[in-house]
Amino acid sequence: MGLLVLKFGGTSVANIPAIENVANKVAGEIQNGHKVAVVVSAMAGVTNQLVAYCSEINHVFDPLEYDAVVASGEQVTSGLLALALQKRGIQARSWMGWQVPIVTNDVHGKARIQSIESEALKKSVMNGDVAVIAGFQGVTPDGRITTLGRGGSDTSAVAVAAALKADRCDIYTDVHGVYTADPRIVNRARKINKISYEEMLEMASVGAKVLHTRSVELAMKERVPVQVLSSFESALGSDLPGTLVVGEDAIVEQEVVSSVTYSRDEAKVTLRSLPDIPGVAAKVFGPLADASINVDMIVQNLSPDHKKTDITFTVTRADLSKALEVLKNIARDLPGTLVESSADVAKVSVIGIGMRSHVGVAQKMFKTLAEKGINIQVITTSEIKVSVLISDEYTELAVRSLHTAYGLDHGG
Ligand code: ADP
Ligand code: ASP
Ligand code: MG
Repeated sequence: MGLLVLKFGGTSVANIPAIENVANKVAGEIQNGHKVAVVVSAMAGVTNQLVAYCSEINHVFDPLEYDAVVASGEQVTSGLLALALQKRGIQARSWMGWQVPIVTNDVHGKARIQSIESEALKKSVMNGDVAVIAGFQGVTPDGRITTLGRGGSDTSAVAVAAALKADRCDIYTDVHGVYTADPRIVNRARKINKISYEEMLEMASVGAKVLHTRSVELAMKERVPVQVLSSFESALGSDLPGTLVVGEDAIVEQEVVSSVTYSRDEAKVTLRSLPDIPGVAAKVFGPLADASINVDMIVQNLSPDHKKTDITFTVTRADLSKALEVLKNIARDLPGTLVESSADVAKVSVIGIGMRSHVGVAQKMFKTLAEKGINIQVITTSEIKVSVLISDEYTELAVRSLHTAYGLDHGG
């Protein structure tokens, strides 16, 4: 008997039969004696449609109104699920972000949760009601609706689980758990039974969209046990059929490389002939940070004459035009500097805690890609990850070849 937070993603609530299926899962956990809070996404495709409406009406949209529009998808599903639960004789009530309230900062479109005033929510859940919370949305201290960035309902769910001190947060989705690679492109990928917060965080941050990066960060910080599982199999979360994301100490077998991940949401920017003097990097990256643009891989070339240098870095494709706009202004103050960009790139990464104690992991990656004739444009590493930037057209070939090379293939 415990308190569970169940999150259902877009495909899990894609239509009325799917919402009925979700209501049955919730009813099953209540029958098992659990108290339940649910977090829902918008129906599959709805958020994309809402984003498209905003672009169609005004290409340079006001982020406050963008949030007012795109947050609406989750309002619909939370109300519908509450109705489906009520039909089953279960007391259920929908909660919008502002009603909880889930308070965020005012970075519209990718806001961060600052606090959750969970007292009323907790009272209602402990009273046996099912709280059906609209994911993805929050409210600023001055009352404007915000959204947490695409895929942000996972973060809503983990944040609610932390605030309610839930026993577990079950993230129901359209695959059976976290795999050694995206099962949609590597059909020999294997489901991982237990993965550490650290590895999952790296995976999410380099593009495995199965969990929103911030949700893993929060789960790790607040020590919320998370399970990723399918809403399309009969097992309930309490049967633990999915992947558990837990502390490193709970993992018995550590693979050297546990997964291969890719991200196509990448764009490359190169600044050529920058003056090679102190303060230039700060001059470039400061204004990008001020514009809330995340910069990822960065390389600066050595300049033979110590006068001019080149810097290459990556941003998300969605941020590319904004980044170019900012850089145009910077380049004006740095005469001779040229700005080049390309969106035909992808980042492929191999991740594993075992890398800390094994050598040769990066070399195997470079060799495997070389054998396939894939050129590496940028390389970055962390303690448990190696990432390379390659031409977008080779993404699938690279991911599959690396999956095989590191011995991750099903039955391999
Ligand atoms: P939801 O709408 O339920 O939030 P998402 O589409 O955001 O679902 O995330 C689930 C998808 O993540 C899967 O359909 C799968 O294609 C993708 N994915 C990418 N990498 C992985 C991985 N390593 N393991 C599992 N799924 C992955
Ligand atoms: N509906 C939102 C999106 O598609 C949030 C989510 O599903 O997590 O990005
Ligand atoms: Mg998602």
